[in-house]
Parts: sequence; structure tokens; C-alpha cells
Amino acid sequence: MTHVAFIGLGNMGAPMAENLLKAGYTLSAHDLNEVAVRRLVELGGRAASSAYDAATGADIVITMLPNDAIVNAIYQGSGGLIERLAHRPLLIDSSTIAPETARTLSGAAKAKGYAMLDAPVSGGPKGAREGTLSFMVGGDLEAFADAEPVLRAMGHAIFHAGHSGAGQVAKICNNMLAAILMAGTAEALALGVGNGLDPAALSDIFKRSSGNNFMLDRWNPWPGVIEDAPASNAFQGGFQTRLMLKDLGLALANAQVRDASVPLGALVRNLFSLHAAAAQENGLQDFSSIQRFYAPSLNH
Ligand code: NAD
Repeated sequence: MTHVAFIGLGNMGAPMAENLLKAGYTLSAHDLNEVAVRRLVELGGRAASSAYDAATGADIVITMLPNDAIVNAIYQGSGGLIERLAHRPLLIDSSTIAPETARTLSGAAKAKGYAMLDAPVSGGPKGAREGTLSFMVGGDLEAFADAEPVLRAMGHAIFHAGHSGAGQVAKICNNMLAAILMAGTAEALALGVGNGLDPAALSDIFKRSSGNNFMLDRWNPWPGVIEDAPASNAFQGGFQTRLMLKDLGLALANAQVRDASVPLGALVRNLFSLHAAAAQENGLQDFSSIQRFYAPSLNH
């Protein structure tokens, strides 16, 4: 039986780990938050007191952590897993971090005899709960083949994006595009509604015309157009503006490293940043709340 160490049981990690238990994997779970660990233990997991404790004896280690600094601290340095583990489990980092960090980590892992993949996800907490995440994986094909079954227990679409770091590149490029599409959709809807058009009728016109996009299909930012979209639920659920800002920051940093021009990416980062700075609640709301930036009347 494959034993998985799961480190980071937050909004994404907890439901992902639950799906592994449901799929029959044995699991040791670690998080700084003991409540999150206790819930996994109730479902059949083993509580681990540290990342090292979780990873000891595991076949696969999966991390789902907030940022580069934390991921680095878990894997690297004298206290890190790469240095300390006596055996060589497959390492999979599903956190969203900089491609450069992912590449450095996998290089350090490889030098010590580990295979390491970057495997960030798309689909949010809902996709994590339903086991329908998309995984964008960077790393060796052999390691990808070894990882596929465990990823399939948590997601429906598993893509090999390319060499190490390519999963993170795919993730930040996708989210930059999603931010641009969301802002563009909100802007066009606000102009049309400002002219007296009905937002639902206008959305239908866009959907059958050249403006059609994913946001109009699944994530319409105008409240009431799609019943179960975050916009129709006071912009709760979905993908928080603050998380989109994190990913846009990673995209812009990568563009700088690559000497690439991303004028629209920079523009939407500034737009979402202004929106988040205008009120604390904006950062915590779904990123479709950018609609309120264009249509302040929605605030009342
Ligand atoms: P979260 O803040 O809900 O969870 C992170 C968890 O990591 C927390 O439970 C925290 O206690 C734990 N943690 C922090 N430092 C730790 C340490 N040193 N050791 C052990 N545990 C530690 O975050 P999340 O929303 O689950 O996101 C996790 C990752 O997934 C992030 O990189 C995020 O960008 C990415 N992501 C999030 C979403 C989303 O919609 N929330 C979607 C796609 C990708």
C-alpha cells in the first residue's frame, strides 16, 4: 500500500488529503494547525509532529503550503527533508511558488538522489473537495508517471507541462490570463449595464459572440447572472483577490527574470491591488469582486 505524507492541511490541502484517504492511501499528516491534523486523524490518517516525522517511511511526500519561503524551509537547509531523510520518497510540491524556486529545489533534491515534481493546481477549494483539480506538473517523465496515480485521486486533469518548474510557469500564466479575462469581462459588463442593458441578456450576447470566455460561462462577475457563481453569493467562495494578487506577483517577477513584457499582466495586478487596498473585505472576496470597482452601485 502506498504511504503518503501530506504537509499543509489548509483550504486546499485538507480536502486533497481526505480524497487520498478515500482512495485507499495510508497517510501521515502534518500542519502547524493541530485542529486540521485532528480532522485528518478522525478520517483515518496518522498525526505527524513535524514534516520530518510525516515524511519518514513515506513513499510519496506532498506539500501544499502558502509560499516560497515556507516550502524552502520544509525541504532545504540542515532541518529540511532533502538533507535529513534516510530514504528517497518521491517529492511533490503542489503549492503555488516561483518557477525559479521550484527549479532550485528540484535540483537540490536531484543532487541527493530524489525525484521532485512541481505540481501546482487549479480548481480552488471546491475542486479540491470534489477531487476535480487540474494538476500542472513539471519534472522528469519517469517521476511524472510515478506520481500520476496519486494525483488522479485528487484531480481529473493531470498535465505534464515540461521540465522542472514548467508546472509553476503554466500555473502563473493561466492565472494571469484568468485575471485579465475577469477584469475585461467586468469592464465590458459595466459599460453595457451603464447604458441600460440587462447584465444577463448582455452576457448571453457575449457568449454567442467573439467576447465569449470562461468567466461568462462559469464565473460571471455580475451578481445574479449565474446562480452559483461567487458574485451571486456576496462574492464569497471562489478564489480570493489576495490569492490572485500573490499569483500575479509571481507572474510579474517571472517576467522580470525572463525579460518579458507583460503589460496587461502589470495592469491587472495594479487594478486588483487598488481594489484590495480600497477595503479590507475586497482582498478576502472572490476576485470577481473587481466588478464592484467598475460598478460602485453594486456596493449598495
Ligand atoms: P491555506 O493558508 O489555507 O493553507 C496553508 C496551510 O499550511 C495552513 O493550514 C498552515 O497552517 C500550513 N502551514 C503553514 N506553514 C507551515 C509549516 N511550516 N509546516 C506545516 N504547515 C504549515 O492555503 P491554501 O488556500 O490551502 O493554499 C495552499 C497553496 O495552494 C498556496 O500556495 C496557494 O497559492 C495554492 N492554491 C490555492 C488555491 C485556493 O483557491 N485557495 C487555489 C490554487 C492554488
